[in-house]
Amino acid sequence: MTAHYWCELAWLGGPRATQGVVIAVDDDRITAVCAGVPVRPEGAVPLAGLTLPALANAHSHAFHRALRGRTHAGRGNFWTWRDLMYRVAGRLDPDNYYRLARAVFAEMALAGIGVVGEFHYVHHRPDGASYDDPNAMGTAVAAAARDAGIRLTLLDTLYLHGGLDAALGGYEPLRPAQARFGDGSADRWADRVERLASTVSGPMTRIGAAVHSVRAVDPPSIKVATDWARERGAPVHFHASEQPAENEQCLGAHGVTPVEVIAQAGGLGSDTTLVHATHADDRDQAMIGEAGASCCLCPTTERDLADGIGPSVGLARHGAELCLGSDSHAVVDLFQEARTVELDQRAASNNRGVFGADALAAMATSGGCRALGWPEGGRLEEGALADFATVALSSVRMAGADADTALDAAIFAAASTDVHHLVVGGRTVVRDGRHTTVDVAAELAAAITEVTAP
Ligand SMILES: [Zn+2]
Repeated sequence: MTAHYWCELAWLGGPRATQGVVIAVDDDRITAVCAGVPVRPEGAVPLAGLTLPALANAHSHAFHRALRGRTHAGRGNFWTWRDLMYRVAGRLDPDNYYRLARAVFAEMALAGIGVVGEFHYVHHRPDGASYDDPNAMGTAVAAAARDAGIRLTLLDTLYLHGGLDAALGGYEPLRPAQARFGDGSADRWADRVERLASTVSGPMTRIGAAVHSVRAVDPPSIKVATDWARERGAPVHFHASEQPAENEQCLGAHGVTPVEVIAQAGGLGSDTTLVHATHADDRDQAMIGEAGASCCLCPTTERDLADGIGPSVGLARHGAELCLGSDSHAVVDLFQEARTVELDQRAASNNRGVFGADALAAMATSGGCRALGWPEGGRLEEGALADFATVALSSVRMAGADADTALDAAIFAAASTDVHHLVVGGRTVVRDGRHTTVDVAAELAAAITEVTAP
């Protein structure tokens, strides 16, 4: 049966919204988009405000949400933050991880996010021994996304070493806090992920590969993970050049940058996404662009962790595809991620207007869908996934916006709470600003208390 939605305004691409758009949906696909319909046709679901393709959150660690409010203050840096993060990781089990991840994914739904890439590395028991089902944790994450009503690309992460230090002889063994992340070898990782892919893949769930970083994975193992993904047409993601110390350790051990290690191991291609790339130099940026790879910028996390401002302008100039992630969930608000990409450049360069609202909106939608292996998502057109989010114009932030200004207002001023409707796969997940099945704040509070209580 065909469902019809009438959008007061819809973003169909370009710098402005279009007035009066009917979206026809059959099952989980858009079957027609018709512009120039000034009055809602009878039977069509009214979507007051600006309707966009559902947002795509290309980089998430769901359990980091439990750290919000607990790690922002005080001194320190990425490395001191990491110690706190490991403490929460040590408390997770398949049951509490399911509850926490479901609440976090439901928070994403409220923010207009229809698909998330979960960079998942908490695989085993805290001492490193397997659960009876070696994929108990990944299965819990997949169930959490399904029950929160959003799409998931589960980026199952290869994590083998505790660090990289030339002075200490190269790769270090996993530390006790990291034991549960590791599979022992890339081949054992591939066997486990193959089983996971065969059990959880479906209309709302896809499996991709991830390589934690060049600190945690050696070049031959990078090749195993990349080959696994390529043979299956799956995306492969890497944390890369997030920190100056990572570049220094990599240069000391390998004589080249992290991006070049990945390239030399065969890991750089159009299905590759490098997360952060904050300290990628000009040569790195050219390699990324030449490969047609994506970079996932996570500016609210990068500034929270004092990582630095990523080279978004250089990456775009060299032809890299850009997308966005909320990563540590310091906030879950892709409008804020998008505007920060541009506003950071203004603050650093004394120039305005590098990325327009349409380019930033594309990062938050089609760019993320591409990086997560859903190329049929992220646009409002015939044949695309029936995934769309509507931003109300009635909030104090959006009041006064019209067809000419609504896209700029949403990207530069909206908050995630201005999203009041979300459809994913043809199903309504958020209606009138409320999740249809999850009491999000209550479930977040309960799940976070469970993993952080003394
Ligand atoms: Zn990350």
